[in-house]
Amino acid sequence: MKNETAFQRCANPACGATYGIREVLTACQRCGALVDIAYDWERTPLPWKLSDFERKWATRNNPLHFSGVWRFKELLNFAPDNQVVTIGEGQTLLRGEPDVAAYTGVKSIRLQYEGLNPSGSFKDNGMTAGFTHARMVGAKKVACASTGNTSASMAAYASASAEVNEGRKLEAVVFVGSGRIAMGKLSQALDYGARTIQIKGYFDDAMRRVTEVSQSLGIYLLNSVNPFRLEGQKAIMYRVLEALNWEVPDWIVVPGGNLGNSSAFGKAFKELHDLGLVSRLPRLAVINAAGANTLYRLYNTEKLRWNGGHYDRAKVEAFYAQMDAEHRDANTLASAIEINRPVNLSKCLRALEWLNGVVGEATDQEILDAKAIVGRGGIGCEPTSAASVAGVKRLVADGTIGRDERVVCVITGHQLKAAQTTVQYHSLTGSKLRKELGEFGVGSNPYANKPIQVPNELPAILKALES
Ligand SMILES: *Cc1c(COP(=O)(O)O)cnc(C)c1O
Ligand SMILES: [Zn+2]
Repeated sequence: MKNETAFQRCANPACGATYGIREVLTACQRCGALVDIAYDWERTPLPWKLSDFERKWATRNNPLHFSGVWRFKELLNFAPDNQVVTIGEGQTLLRGEPDVAAYTGVKSIRLQYEGLNPSGSFKDNGMTAGFTHARMVGAKKVACASTGNTSASMAAYASASAEVNEGRKLEAVVFVGSGRIAMGKLSQALDYGARTIQIKGYFDDAMRRVTEVSQSLGIYLLNSVNPFRLEGQKAIMYRVLEALNWEVPDWIVVPGGNLGNSSAFGKAFKELHDLGLVSRLPRLAVINAAGANTLYRLYNTEKLRWNGGHYDRAKVEAFYAQMDAEHRDANTLASAIEINRPVNLSKCLRALEWLNGVVGEATDQEILDAKAIVGRGGIGCEPTSAASVAGVKRLVADGTIGRDERVVCVITGHQLKAAQTTVQYHSLTGSKLRKELGEFGVGSNPYANKPIQVPNELPAILKALES
């Protein structure tokens, strides 16, 4: 491995086994832990300061400079330039919103709107990196299990890959649970031509199956256990810094499902700090849905900590065993984080240690209310994404986040992914609302913008427009 500038390394410091960059691993072969991508920074040509990256804006006809991920390639330098698979991901925005500031009580709150990605969620940041590795190793088929956005993203990249893959598309196989999957997301996988297998069960069932199948059929696995995806997702933080003129905010807040994003953010900042490219670190807040709060419970009730890598694995196993025994299944309309056993739990614990983090939660009622506030500012998000804003409101109320601190919430996915829930929230009242959303504990819609029903008569229409 010594002659490569990038390699793979077991995330368990007590093991630390290393592997070549072209190996395809979903876990350490020695100890079973997750693996990281690591770099020999001494041999990586790095910028002197982060603002040097801005120079690439001037040469945006180079696809690697146009991409909001590969523009920062020096910080994820695992692939030759000519192997990169990019479809223009990462053209996203950091925006302030007065309504969200008033709602959460934080004066300086900004939203990093990742719904603007080609497939409508932050997943594209990781998928471009995952596909790049798939191409490096000559994969012909790729697969994932998904609550929706991973499959939408993977299907888009697979279809677009023909352009860079000598005219051959990579074949995409998507595993989804039979239960809740947002129509918008399923429609994307179908539209982009992925072979879509609907398994009776939940995400976690689909996840287990796709792992089995990919091993036995030699399919390249693009779930968030894939460490290359997390490398691409680091770029979300680079763009946040860029939009803040390279100033580090006080808080990064993100919804937590399989915990890939939070893990990637921790790694991004740890590396920048170790390299001396930032002088301080933000704190991290990961927000669970109250109906899918494995991390919240493990962190806050069970006091599970990374502990330099010596985290209490038995405690996690006992927690899962009890969850199974009580048939306690995840249940939230924030479907992208409806996860029982977060795949990247250990890496997220590490990120929480690195960034002095906290774990919050929000009910579906709080999530939908927060989503309506986000929407008022002209940023459409899917319910899951608003968990970050709902989480901030709680963390301000309990004094964890100060009103004068600078907060960045990651808005992970686009509003049109789950349009039905939005319409239900805004248009239903009373018992009708409870009938549709009551199973998630949603009983009111204080921020609804109700459509006004009028007969097809001019006086009635004029009257409706009066006030
Ligand atoms: C995948 C996803 C999440 C969860 O991210 P993790 O990295 O799995 O924690 C949150 N929001 C949206 C919209 C997603 O697609
Ligand atoms: Zn190991």
